[in-house]
Amino acid sequence: IKTTFTPITRQDQEPIGIVAVLEDVTEQEKLDRQRKDFVANVSHELRTPLTTIKSYLEALSDGAMEEPELATRFLQVTQQEAERMSRLINDLLHLSRLDAQKIKIQKKAMRIDNILQSAADRFSLPAEQKQVHLSCTIEEKLPQVYIDPDLMDRVLDNLISNAVKYTSTEGTITIHAHRLLDGSVEVSIRDTGIGIPKKDLDRIFERFYRVDKARSRDMGGTGLGLSIAKEIVEVHGGEIAIHSTYKKGTTVSFTLPPFEPEVIR
Ligand code: ADP
Repeated sequence: IKTTFTPITRQDQEPIGIVAVLEDVTEQEKLDRQRKDFVANVSHELRTPLTTIKSYLEALSDGAMEEPELATRFLQVTQQEAERMSRLINDLLHLSRLDAQKIKIQKKAMRIDNILQSAADRFSLPAEQKQVHLSCTIEEKLPQVYIDPDLMDRVLDNLISNAVKYTSTEGTITIHAHRLLDGSVEVSIRDTGIGIPKKDLDRIFERFYRVDKARSRDMGGTGLGLSIAKEIVEVHGGEIAIHSTYKKGTTVSFTLPPFEPEVIR
């Protein structure tokens, strides 16, 4: 709390009191800290792959080039790291556009069925490769929602790819959509994966927050997927929540308000 005191005097300079202003700067300080953390995180996240790329290139020019098998492996690593940097930069640009409200959100009244089904289809191969069973159940006669389909694809890609990433062989992933009592539509993605410890759940939607940084990086993660999903759901007037039991599984669900033509006009 920031405190300022201003003395009050009569015309003849006789003091008659003091005005004390107590200003709650918690929010301001929190924002400042978040901004500084964000810059530090971005620099770190970009430097890590860059260091790897540099050291592998060095090894190649120091002789690894002469050994074709080694050279191929080293080149693959540099390529993977370069791809990760480019994913990170894409995610950052996307977030900053969302923050600055620069993304043109093109909402349409539509049902979510096809979008969900195609998102599930996009991940059927990666899931199958891990022997993870992925299914999609959509309640009949879902009301229409008012959404930007491209942005919604992005939410689903982020959430389903997490489910695939953090679920091991023989696990299951269930995508489900149903209507809530207030008419909104709830979509949930449930997995039987590694789960998230209770202590991390509160912060999991923060940018770059990860339970296990090394594991997330190994899986190609940027640590931004959940925060992007949250921003997009919120610009649609919905809410996102995560429930998880460590070592048992995770459910991420989000709501989308029903399409109400009179609200738009
Ligand atoms: P990342 O790119 O690291 O996956 P996200 O923002 O998408 O970043 O997720 C943040 C962190 O939340 C992940 O690093 C992981 O620790 C945890 N997480 C997200 N989804 C799941 C899930 N389905 N199962 C277990 N952990 C998850």
